[in-house]
Amino acid sequence: VTTFSGQHVALFGLGGSGLATARALLAGGAEVVAWDDGAEGVAKASAEGIPTADLREADWSNFAALVLAPGVPLTHPEPHWSVRRAKEAGVEIVGDIELFCRERRARAPGAPFVAITGTNGKSTTTALIAHVLAEAGRDVQMGGNIGTAILSLAPPDGNRVHVIELSSFQIDLTPSLDPSVGVLMNITPDHLDRHGTMEQYAAIKERLIQGAGLAVVGIDDAPSRAIADRRSDRLVRVHVGAGSVPAEGLGVADGHVRDGAGEVLADVNGIGSLRGAHNWQNAAVAVAVARALDVDPDRIRAGLVSFPGLPHRMEEVRRRGAVLFVNDSKATNADSTEKALTAFRDIHWILGGKAKEGGIFPLVPYFERVAHAYLIGAATDAFAATLEGAVPYTRCGTLDVAVEQAAANAAASGAPEPVVLLSPACASYDQFRNFEIRGDRFRELVKALP
Ligand code: ADP
Repeated sequence: VTTFSGQHVALFGLGGSGLATARALLAGGAEVVAWDDGAEGVAKASAEGIPTADLREADWSNFAALVLAPGVPLTHPEPHWSVRRAKEAGVEIVGDIELFCRERRARAPGAPFVAITGTNGKSTTTALIAHVLAEAGRDVQMGGNIGTAILSLAPPDGNRVHVIELSSFQIDLTPSLDPSVGVLMNITPDHLDRHGTMEQYAAIKERLIQGAGLAVVGIDDAPSRAIADRRSDRLVRVHVGAGSVPAEGLGVADGHVRDGAGEVLADVNGIGSLRGAHNWQNAAVAVAVARALDVDPDRIRAGLVSFPGLPHRMEEVRRRGAVLFVNDSKATNADSTEKALTAFRDIHWILGGKAKEGGIFPLVPYFERVAHAYLIGAATDAFAATLEGAVPYTRCGTLDVAVEQAAANAAASGAPEPVVLLSPACASYDQFRNFEIRGDRFRELVKALP
């Protein structure tokens, strides 16, 4: 990226996206000095020749900008020290998405750029949109908050479409955000610990669609609806909760994505990897975006059906006889697990780990869908107390034991379509480093079953 060519730029945060940013800035002729509070990032940067220095000692009057990795606190609850010093010196503070936006403006101003944000469903919808576009033969680059760092992707060029997931942090660091299509899925209280009040959180999300050529807004929750109501033109409303479809928008009614004229655009029940009502919004939003980018309706439908889904989110791992095995390791709280429980019946449910506040009390209404529960990890005693008398359970200790017992019981149950579901409603770190490793282990155990 050439925005800061010949200028001094400070870079803070040397994870994957920070390293990609340093490389892109250096390639574009900027003078970069990078730092990270952790030794690992600094070592990696030095190893590939990226100049590093403890920015605490820096003379900020030399710098044109501070580029921050997402997740470095900008405002709440306390700005990071590097942010405070840069601000005091009047230095511009931006993120890698801002560098991308400036580069796009300079070299390919009309290049299609889809930016997606929301509290839930961002990754699924980003991957789904990218899949539908790629299946329709488009040149697609997907990344941002999902997968590849934006500055590691191929640059904007002609009709190449960038499909980019953005967290609130990333939006905050992108003052000139101007996607051709901006998608706001939903706004619910989450991460408020890091964003202050609900109003501040919603205001950050709104910025994504303010700069967008076309806005696609899910209006199932009140804050998102209010944002849609503040914009009248170049807006597609997506309403899936009500059974009715907005006049100038899309919705899901009778299991089909429809537009305001009543035209059926897709059958949401026919999509194996998008099970559950929460995925209707994801499907409808993807249809809205693909339509806006002139994808042929038949190809949109085909792309939805062939979407393989994302790993660890209600991922169908295997069918073994009548038994379906589902990896929903990403469900680290009761809210997410609720979605999995509503999607199935005759569930052999593997759960537990490091419990969140409230445990599994919110899931009691769905217990009738559960045939048997298999408890693992630190939450075992607490969860057993909630299940007591309502759902038969086994204390398994480890995931390995749980898979073995659940597989055996499900096969012997005689139910027509029993499901062995890993949806832990817990963080993983009492037994696994992260939810991906937990889900990978589940997949491995299931695949190894005779
Ligand atoms: P994100 O990237 O925003 O964290 P994901 O696509 O990874 O979202 O989905 C995470 C979890 O959020 C899913 O496992 C599911 O429980 C829930 N979810 C997915 N889509 C939606 C949606 N549109 N509305 C509400 N919850 C959703």
